[in-house]
Amino acid sequence: MRKQYETVIGLEVHIELATKTKIFCGCPTEFGGEPNTHTCPVCTGMPGALPVLNRKVVEYALKAGLAMNCQIHRFCKFDRKNYFYPDNPQNYQISQLYLPICYDGTVEIETSGGRKQVRIHEMHMEEDAGKLIHDPWTDSSLVDYNRSGVPLIEIVSEPDMRNAQEVMAYLEQLRIMAQYLGISDCRLEEGSMRADVNLSVREAGASQYGTRTEMKNLNSFKAIARAIEGETMRQIELLEEGKEVIQETRRWDDNKECSFPMRSKEDAKDYRYFPDPDLPPVVIDEAWIERLRAEQPELRGDKKQRFVREFGLSEYDADILTEFRNLADLFEETVKYGAQPKKAANWMTQDAMRLLKETGRRPEEITFSPDYLAALIQVEEEQKITHKGAKEVFEQIFDHDEEPLGYIEAHHLAAVADAGVLEQVIEEVIREYPDSVAQYRDGKEKVFGFFVGQVMRRMKGNADPSVTRELLREKLR
Ligand code: ADP
Ligand code: MG
Ligand code: ZN
Repeated sequence: MRKQYETVIGLEVHIELATKTKIFCGCPTEFGGEPNTHTCPVCTGMPGALPVLNRKVVEYALKAGLAMNCQIHRFCKFDRKNYFYPDNPQNYQISQLYLPICYDGTVEIETSGGRKQVRIHEMHMEEDAGKLIHDPWTDSSLVDYNRSGVPLIEIVSEPDMRNAQEVMAYLEQLRIMAQYLGISDCRLEEGSMRADVNLSVREAGASQYGTRTEMKNLNSFKAIARAIEGETMRQIELLEEGKEVIQETRRWDDNKECSFPMRSKEDAKDYRYFPDPDLPPVVIDEAWIERLRAEQPELRGDKKQRFVREFGLSEYDADILTEFRNLADLFEETVKYGAQPKKAANWMTQDAMRLLKETGRRPEEITFSPDYLAALIQVEEEQKITHKGAKEVFEQIFDHDEEPLGYIEAHHLAAVADAGVLEQVIEEVIREYPDSVAQYRDGKEKVFGFFVGQVMRRMKGNADPSVTRELLREKLR
């Protein structure tokens, strides 16, 4: 029988911090821009230029560390990681090796296999490199240093994940955490979150880990899932043939759906790390940590539980509502304006989500006045508008924060419950379709729907449905 194998995965995740300026100079971190315009002597590595640490970077790193229940090194330092590559103008990257700002944390993930803690080995601050642009036409490479010096945190997990589903859940947790903290948008596709996957396989039940490889160049969730699958198979095949896995860095090619050796695994000593003499150590005092702790927002897990407890929402609704902090806030504000929680939740989880898909907007960008949604829910509850009409109004609120009551009036959306007007229309319909009336009176219940439809059409959808049905039954008797 074929042996059973277990996959073991540890992640190194880089997250670009959304500070206004770079980590060691005043240049903007803004994405894009003409190449080499967001640069200065510091971030282009000019001899003699001196780095000055951006305090916000330390604060953002601490926020992330606190959210992951990490220990904090009260005395932390920066180290130089030396390597030569044209995207790295100083020929060293300023990073942290010996005393990273945070260590020993946890991130809780949830999959179909249940809840699980992924341990965080450490998290450190470092600077990003520039970007190389290879031009096959002219057979040349160009370099853009706009990204050089953009602040990063690198989060190193313990090898605690066992499959692609757990890896996805972990990355999703990090993304949502960063979004709640407002420290990064974490987009794999745009490179503001980058994940290196360390993977090994071992026989099920073995006590030792196998030899791992590290895969780079994974820029979508799908690519990560495929890479895990492909690399697991490759390593199992090697072991089955009695060969060994070589510890190395591999590049995942998502088009060819396989990985290729990139370089043999480098050691810390290859980088000749040493403390950066241009930067003094950072001392993080208790008062600073306490202030940040007090400022921490309620995070997703807590908010979700509170929504279930406080508003009686289903786990499912609470899950959708809390994926984006601004949507959760909009929901809660709407309830504060007096809307029934379940109704407010329905508009957000069903209609808002549908409109998001249709319009291709980003959930993080959605904003409208919560009192407008509360007012809409109120008029529908009072049956002053049909559900169909309310949907139209909601689209307006969602799209450009339209004031609902004025809109309802201007577009004649107020539901007509006035029996007089309705009776006239109903009589008209009955006169026009004597055959259908006869069928109905013969017991053909199906034609009733036809009559409701006819009345609604003439009323342009604005008739109160329950009053319409009641009057129709009466007149058709
Ligand atoms: P290095 O210092 O050589 O980069 P680390 O010990 O820091 O190695 O580990 C880097 C990453 O590799 C971590 O995320 C860790 O969880 C993961 N890792 C370490 N050993 C294994 C293994 N045998 N299988 C899978 N992942 C591993
Ligand atoms: Mg490493
Ligand atoms: Zn600069």
